[in-house]
Amino acid sequence: MRFTSTRSRCDAGASQAIAQGLADDGGLFVPTDFPAFTAEDFAKLTECSYVERAEAVLSRYLTDFTAEEIRHAVTSAYTGTFDHEEPAPLKEVSPGTHMLELWHGPTCAFKDMALQLLPYLLTTAAGKAASGKTIVILVATSGDTGKAALDGFANVPGTRIVVFYPRDGVSAMQKRQMTTQTGDNVTVCAIEGNFDNAQTGVKMIFSDEAMKAELAAAGMEFSSANSINFGRLVPQIVYYVSAYCDLLKEGRLQPGEGFHVAVPTGNFGNILAAVYASKMGVPIRKFLCASNRNCILTDFIRTGVYDRNREFYTTTSPSMDILISSNLERMLYHLYGNDPAAVAQLMADLKEQGKYTVAPEVLQKLQETFVGGWCDDAAVEETI
Ligand SMILES: *Cc1c(COP(=O)(O)O)cnc(C)c1O
Repeated sequence: MRFTSTRSRCDAGASQAIAQGLADDGGLFVPTDFPAFTAEDFAKLTECSYVERAEAVLSRYLTDFTAEEIRHAVTSAYTGTFDHEEPAPLKEVSPGTHMLELWHGPTCAFKDMALQLLPYLLTTAAGKAASGKTIVILVATSGDTGKAALDGFANVPGTRIVVFYPRDGVSAMQKRQMTTQTGDNVTVCAIEGNFDNAQTGVKMIFSDEAMKAELAAAGMEFSSANSINFGRLVPQIVYYVSAYCDLLKEGRLQPGEGFHVAVPTGNFGNILAAVYASKMGVPIRKFLCASNRNCILTDFIRTGVYDRNREFYTTTSPSMDILISSNLERMLYHLYGNDPAAVAQLMADLKEQGKYTVAPEVLQKLQETFVGGWCDDAAVEETI
């Protein structure tokens, strides 16, 4: 499996994509094609444990990892770390509606699904692609990623981790979780500004040649634990495959029969993992992209105009308080038929004017599968 950048053609293996995090041109690494499971593959996976399903998915993407490396990574990440015998159980909440329980990890955030596994993927990848350099992981967080990444990387040899969070933009519990983190290789830093400022700052550091040179001289290399890193996405594809297998196993779905997913969205990572699962053959029909009052994605899906020139609201769901949704860039790349020039132009428009408009045929394609919606804090509270 090879990877290229969303903004210009390049060629990287999985190890390089994961070790590096962000492509040299500031774009995101995307797979050049998608592995697919057949109906027989799904029938087999239905009988498997979560760890075995994870092995099956990862081995299709991380083709420069050995089977033994993948087995060690998934077994270590998901054995004895979650408070449930299966890391991602599927529960029926009402007839025909199921909840994928993604909160059984050590920090109670769904981010644990990926961030318990990422340290193993990243250190293995760095051993292959970064010739054993110390990996310095920079993380921008709106609250949940920070703690989940700190928990995953604390005291992992060969890594250091620095987390940047918006001083007034996370909950009191999230702040306490992060600032009390123990470990010799961890640093936590509050910034003035919101999540978008933190994420933009981190991306600027990644693309700063002088900074990269200084790090290289010290035997170090930057990487990312945000969902801009493909290594964050691939573990998330697994739970959509796994949920589908559970639906088949319980006879809720017949082979080939489809279902919809509703995903609370911020940086568009979780919902993109669902899209990637569907490209692998999981029959997801509609993707319901759920937002809070920062409803930039709802507006985008309805109009084709992505416009960040708007007020930023601090809500009771801080992990979704985002106006620059990074992984949408990967979605645009696929919607434009893998055209990096088109994506580079949109990203330049976003940087210079704070907005972009997609082509009419792209909007039409988007609306065939995506539905956007949002609700305010009062509606969230009432629902809970
Ligand atoms: C991170 C997070 C989200 C947003 O996920 P993305 O992958 O950034 O779209 C939504 N809800 C919670 C609780 C989160 O921690």
